[in-house]
Amino acid sequence: MGSIEIIDGDITTLEVDAIVNAANNGLRGGGGVDGAIHRAAGPELLAACVPLGGCATGAAKITPGFKLPARYVIHTVGPIWRGGSAGETSLLASCYRESLRLAEEYELRSIAFPAVSCGVYGFPLDQACGIAYQTISQHLEAGSRIELVYLVCFNQQIRSAYERVAAA
Ligand code: ADP
Repeated sequence: MGSIEIIDGDITTLEVDAIVNAANNGLRGGGGVDGAIHRAAGPELLAACVPLGGCATGAAKITPGFKLPARYVIHTVGPIWRGGSAGETSLLASCYRESLRLAEEYELRSIAFPAVSCGVYGFPLDQACGIAYQTISQHLEAGSRIELVYLVCFNQQIRSAYERVAAA
């Protein structure tokens, strides 16, 4: 069965089949991890995103990785945290499920996720990291050809949240 690894670092440097981008509905680039991915991939990434016509919250779309070491970028749009009663939990789970579904469709074996919605979108970290870990675990346990899933921690708070979830 595929495994989950919690790692520190910059997702744009990883040599994996796909990295996941915490994008916005317009898929036009932005701040945070989205900006870092677009800068590292080069302007061809934006050119590939424009014809996709945006992406709904909880959905995912795929492009090549261009100048990135990763072959593909899977763009998913996490929910903005609005207090928890606006469907945030199921939308965030959907981001992970839909990204993994695309990875299966493209027969990818390794994929790296940032902590979607845990930056400016303000999702509580423990809850978001729990949703990420459980959704990915369920997917791998259900039978998957994915061999390795990285959960990339850009700061110590995210790392601690994932470690608590993984130990539970
Ligand atoms: P969102 O809008 O979904 O909240 P952000 O980009 O603001 O997206 O943050 C998502 C997560 O990505 C945050 O945990 C942030 O610390 C992390 N992050 C930012 N830059 C990088 C990077 N280069 N590699 C990995 N994770 C990153």
